[in-house]
Amino acid sequence: MAGGRLAALIGCLLVSLHGAPALAQEQIVATRIWPARDYTRVTFESKQPLKYELFTVKQPQRLVLDILDVDMGPTLAELRGKVTEGDPYIKGLRAGRNRPGVVRIVLDLKTEVEAQAFTLAPIGDYGHRLVLDIHPLVPPDPLAALLESGDGLAPREDGRAPSAGSARRPGKAGRLATIVIDAGHGGEDPGARGRRGSYEKNVTLIIAKRLKALVDAEPGMRALLTRDGDYFLPLKLRVEKARAVHADLFVSIHADSFMRPHARGSSVFALSTRRASSEAAWLARKENASDLIGGVELRAKDRYLKQTLIDLSQTGTIDYSLKLGRAVLSQLGHVNTLHKPRVQQAGFAVLTAPDVPSILVETAFISNPQEEKKLNDRGYQGRLARAILSGIKRYIEQNPPRPQGPLASRE
Ligand SMILES: [Zn+2]
Repeated sequence: MAGGRLAALIGCLLVSLHGAPALAQEQIVATRIWPARDYTRVTFESKQPLKYELFTVKQPQRLVLDILDVDMGPTLAELRGKVTEGDPYIKGLRAGRNRPGVVRIVLDLKTEVEAQAFTLAPIGDYGHRLVLDIHPLVPPDPLAALLESGDGLAPREDGRAPSAGSARRPGKAGRLATIVIDAGHGGEDPGARGRRGSYEKNVTLIIAKRLKALVDAEPGMRALLTRDGDYFLPLKLRVEKARAVHADLFVSIHADSFMRPHARGSSVFALSTRRASSEAAWLARKENASDLIGGVELRAKDRYLKQTLIDLSQTGTIDYSLKLGRAVLSQLGHVNTLHKPRVQQAGFAVLTAPDVPSILVETAFISNPQEEKKLNDRGYQGRLARAILSGIKRYIEQNPPRPQGPLASRE
């Protein structure tokens, strides 16, 4: 008791030293939920760093996140309504004052999960963020997703039903070519923003989906999307997904931006092991910042840094990436001005799969009002997707997938 009284006394002293701490509690200024099969993320944003405690409760499965020294304001009260029925992991959510200065968020879960909470320093338009990532115990297998979608039932681009079996016929080499299509950015990372208000992350996903439908309708080819919804995927995970399915090709879709609104045109990039031109290096830094804006846990960041040290043995893969890049760039030249007439090279983290020829396509400048309008046009999105497909097909004709591909035994 005496200790308690002493603590209370010290508490009073602190109160008098610091003024009125009851009024100095943090406000949560924004909350967001990004549900996806890969993982669901819940984000809390504030002007000051947040302190928190996370624990799991079983029977039924729940997560409890205590946020310390915050007020139960209207933003937290609205969080409950942001849980969607289709969320693979969160069944429901309650937020309320647990004890003075502590807001408790209780998440009812649909399944057993592995959860991590971590904080992110301010970057871009964001203040301090507290992020809760809810992963399944067993991560979804990209190979299973590929085989699931590779059932020959992919819709044709013209909307007609696919003819039975036609879409899944292996190519000359006796093996399907696997194309991994990566929609740049997503979720917490919106990418570039156009003057008319469109986000790069949405445009890239639409074009990526169009391209996937086209690839799946081709005999001898099949496609996997790294992300099929609006959520953030770390760059390293995009690379890992391509490697997990032993992809023959990796194509990352983006939309460029520049301070000057008249910058325009399409460009294609491959990885570089040497010094890049200043414009390409600037763009690579901007694209690589995706992990900082989207928010990767520090431990994961360390692993990712090691991965980006480019092995010189990658030069063979880079030669193929350049061939693929040239094939795609020349086709893009039929639907848009080219920003640069050659394939550019720089240290893009998303292009670092050592064994998968990889390119990054900047479809057009979303910062250019005319190109932004085109990027949002269904017809133009289809033309871009068809041009990329034509380039991929031309490359595959000249560089067919190896007959003894890693997937040969699985088909
Ligand atoms: Zn981008």
